[in-house]
Amino acid sequence: MAEQDAPLAPGLYLVATPIGNLNDITLRALDVLRRADRICCEDTRQTQKLLNHFQIATPTESLHEHNERERATSLVASLQAGARIAVVSDAGMPGINDPGMTLTAAAIAAGVAVFPIPGANAALTALVASGLPTTEFQFLGFLPEKAGQRRTRIEDLAADPSDSERTLIFYEAPHRILDTLADLEAVFGASLRIVVARELTKIHEEFLRGTVAGVRTQLASRDRIRGEITLLVQAPAINRAAADPSTATASIAERVARLQSEFSIDEKEALKRLARELDRSKSDLYRELQREHAARRKRV
Ligand code: SAM
Repeated sequence: MAEQDAPLAPGLYLVATPIGNLNDITLRALDVLRRADRICCEDTRQTQKLLNHFQIATPTESLHEHNERERATSLVASLQAGARIAVVSDAGMPGINDPGMTLTAAAIAAGVAVFPIPGANAALTALVASGLPTTEFQFLGFLPEKAGQRRTRIEDLAADPSDSERTLIFYEAPHRILDTLADLEAVFGASLRIVVARELTKIHEEFLRGTVAGVRTQLASRDRIRGEITLLVQAPAINRAAADPSTATASIAERVARLQSEFSIDEKEALKRLARELDRSKSDLYRELQREHAARRKRV
């Protein structure tokens, strides 16, 4: 019996859908959506367009962030009774910054089979074409919307460097991208390497690659920034030479400590003097100092 003729096994199917280009639907996704008993959708109207396009008549119902917890109990009961339920979000992989995680965990806890049906996902699609490191990466979803919380989150990331280079992946809204880039520049410095991946898989797909300062200037010159954005950041690795005071090139921490003891000044004043000496900004040096402290803490 061909696979598509065999009845669909009972269970929960997490089905990826396109992130912009309908041709990115997979044959398996279409097959599962066609043969499932029902499809739980983040937004039934949105999914209906996809189903109409592919002439799929499976009933739909809604499963979104506000009802997922409450709906999970009855959905799991149906699954235990042998239902085949597909879950889709508006775009991409369900469960990735989209509904699906709570129901999946409940289904697993109840001993129900869960089948991932892979496909498009904005984070990985952006990463592979970014030109930034792919060996190690960290997906961080959306940054906080509030300016203060966003800045703190970025500072925390800068204070927690990795041993090797890695790429940080964020989802970002077009009306917040300039503020986020300004924060990244202030915390990591103007030469931080970033990529803004916009409108992936769509007609106006665009990759802006370069330093955070350069990309920010480029975007700021536009009348309006539109479309969906995935932001990638090449997080600097720990600079072991700078963090090790035994090397010939003294670290910022060591130079600050020397100034403090030589002139009996506090750290703030020492940083100010060092900034003048090196012709660098005080805040820049302060961030480097924090990174060194973090790196040292990490090594002990
Ligand atoms: N579940 C989806 C996935 O697997 O990628 C992500 C859903 S999340 C709510 C939506 C965000 O993903 C958008 O705000 C944007 O940051 C990013 N995104 C989605 N589609 C995109 C695209 N075509 N190009 C760039 N980023 C995209």
